[in-house]
Amino acid sequence: MLQTIPGFDRIGEENAFAVLARATELAADGRDIINLGIGQPDFRTPDHIVEAAIKALRDGHHGYTPATGIAPLREAVAADLHKRHDVDVNPGNVLIVPGGKVTMFMAILMFGEPGTEILYPDPGFPIYRSMIEFAGATPVPVPIREENDFAFSAEETLSLITDRTRLLILNSPANPTGGVTPRSEIETLVAGLENHPQVAVMSDEIYSQMTYDGMEHVSLLQFASLRDRLILLDGWSKTYAMTGWRMGFAVWPDALVDKVRKLAVNAWSCVNAPAQFAGLAALTGPQTAVHDMVNEFDTRRKVIVEGLNAIEGISCKTPLGAFYAYPNIKNTGWQAKALASALLEETGVAIIGGPDFGILGEGYVRLSYANSTLNIKKALERVNLFLQENKK
Ligand code: PLP
Repeated sequence: MLQTIPGFDRIGEENAFAVLARATELAADGRDIINLGIGQPDFRTPDHIVEAAIKALRDGHHGYTPATGIAPLREAVAADLHKRHDVDVNPGNVLIVPGGKVTMFMAILMFGEPGTEILYPDPGFPIYRSMIEFAGATPVPVPIREENDFAFSAEETLSLITDRTRLLILNSPANPTGGVTPRSEIETLVAGLENHPQVAVMSDEIYSQMTYDGMEHVSLLQFASLRDRLILLDGWSKTYAMTGWRMGFAVWPDALVDKVRKLAVNAWSCVNAPAQFAGLAALTGPQTAVHDMVNEFDTRRKVIVEGLNAIEGISCKTPLGAFYAYPNIKNTGWQAKALASALLEETGVAIIGGPDFGILGEGYVRLSYANSTLNIKKALERVNLFLQENKK
């Protein structure tokens, strides 16, 4: 018998990929599938970004790059963060990684071991808990509540910190809820964290450019008292519709940047060279495509929230960020995962059950509105009909 480390008995995954696989299978059988399951923009990467990658290939950028990323890209990331968040970042602290996910992987590996605790949002991106368990640390869920508009509560978060806490994971704008935590709450949290200098913070800001109704995104980078223990996770996937390129960036504090560079050298050497040139074009080129995409998401957001609230038994708060609606389905009488599965099999509408995002997810489902308005309306008609015909 091959014996692997115990972490492999605990590691999880993302059910969104399983739902995508099943939806693809049903579509291949000729079924009319509307996919509101997967968390990726339904737009193409803007042409000038694609052209930059093609040019890089033609120009002969075929070899390894520095493990931390090409210098102009790291400088462009620092300039972008300065422009968006009004913060000074040393390009030497920037790490280019193959996808935003890699930053959480490395941060959790760096701080997680048996006997330690890592705080993470629940409901939240499923990989947080999976990786914490893989590392052998104790996952401590920070409840994200509907009555708090799916913002995290500073007070509750701080109350969960113990002397075993090594890392706190934050995510705003959030997956799966679309919640955005307001500045006042973040300020309270940061002030409280000054009493816990042993706790590192990983702020997952992958949806940083997707907020609505004038809601401000507050980057944790803006707080000087955290800078020596803050890991920023961001990237190109969502903002520039580049999920398949595998391009992310992180800012690591001085004390950790060389450790993480070594981890990168051990794991992947460097990120795909032409993709880095694409990333550079994305940051330095016109941002119109980003604004157009966010405006389109905003239109769909209103359609999906209105449509969901018109269905008996469903109530949906208006999400202020990302591209997800996270309605409460408790009054339908359905269990969330059973409903998601029945909707896919019976009506061809793919959504994700809340429990796939954490123990507090029962009673909710996630719908991604990265699909056309027409498809969203069609999907909601099917959901409505299904619930009328299948009362619990
Ligand atoms: N963080 C959150 C909250 C996400 O929702 C996702 C993707 O869905 C990621 C990180 C990972 O992004 P990437 O595709 O760049 O690895």
